[in-house]
Amino acid sequence: MKIAIIGLGSVGSAVATAVANTGMAQEIVLFDRDGVRARAAAEDLGHAAAFSYDIKITAVNNYRAIRGSEIVIIAAGANQKPGQTRTDLLHANAAVINDIVPRVMANVDAKNVKLIIVTNPLDVMVMLAQKISKLPPARVIGTGTMLDSARLRTILSRQLSVSTQSINAYVLGEHGDSSMINWSSACIGGIDLNTFCKQTKNSLPTSTRKTIEHRVRNAAYEIIRGRGATWDGIAGAVADLVRCIVNDEHRILTVSTLGAMYNKPISISLPRIVGRSGIIATLQPKMSTDETIAFRRSARIIRRNFDAL
Ligand code: NAD
Repeated sequence: MKIAIIGLGSVGSAVATAVANTGMAQEIVLFDRDGVRARAAAEDLGHAAAFSYDIKITAVNNYRAIRGSEIVIIAAGANQKPGQTRTDLLHANAAVINDIVPRVMANVDAKNVKLIIVTNPLDVMVMLAQKISKLPPARVIGTGTMLDSARLRTILSRQLSVSTQSINAYVLGEHGDSSMINWSSACIGGIDLNTFCKQTKNSLPTSTRKTIEHRVRNAAYEIIRGRGATWDGIAGAVADLVRCIVNDEHRILTVSTLGAMYNKPISISLPRIVGRSGIIATLQPKMSTDETIAFRRSARIIRRNFDAL
């Protein structure tokens, strides 16, 4: 499979490494408007690949060279500076998506290509990329709250001393400050979270849940304060999504895609079945009244930001 990555900053470079390490791609092409940066990334990655898989990794300076790519990952655009929210990037990154998507679409097979959107504010950028590309929403996929859900599972794993692999717990809604934890559907080893806590003599009172919610929502801000940007977590999420698509795994991932939400088209994260054709089905998890209110609020915020463009 040929995979193209557009944008080779902190995130794009880490994504390229993580995708190369899945062994799923025979060819990876890298494009950045800064050609020197893309060429340096291709060189470095090519050297790393000599220790793992035989992959052809090339930097390209025009979009014609992405022809034949079945997956195009867009990780270009401004990132958050300390103190900035993802929404602060709205107009700058809309310009980036407006620049990239038509060029991508002029060079890929529209009947088959899957766009993976990473650029923030994520959900709005997915809506914009879908509008420009005119691709079926099932093939314009934002990483959504995959990363936020991983952060939640990591915290729960430490708190409850159980592997992240056994935890089914999702962050839903916006990949942003209005994201919410769907506690009502959380389960561990097939047992609902409350029963699990009782059986293992753990407790997760409301105050602890609120702290966890705060930590999940603020994880990116903490990481940006400490190392200037976030890249490893999102790279893991993108590689997992690529694996799920290429292997047609039909796994459930909290990705973001355009769909009818409260009678309006909105891109938002829900648990979805993902495979080779993109998004196969969207699931509606059980939500408490408070969770439904939070999810609706998140949907309203995404739509309002899209309308502001
Ligand atoms: P960065 O500044 O390190 O890199 C951005 C890269 O994009 C640069 O190399 C730049 O030259 C390139 N670029 C900008 N405009 C371009 C264009 N029109 N065409 C081609 N290349 C272009 O930023 P970063 O830290 O790599 O972050 C990239 C994006 O990923 C940001 O929007 C950031 O907020 C987002 N992000 C998303 C998640 C997520 O969970 N979805 C997580 C982390 C970061």
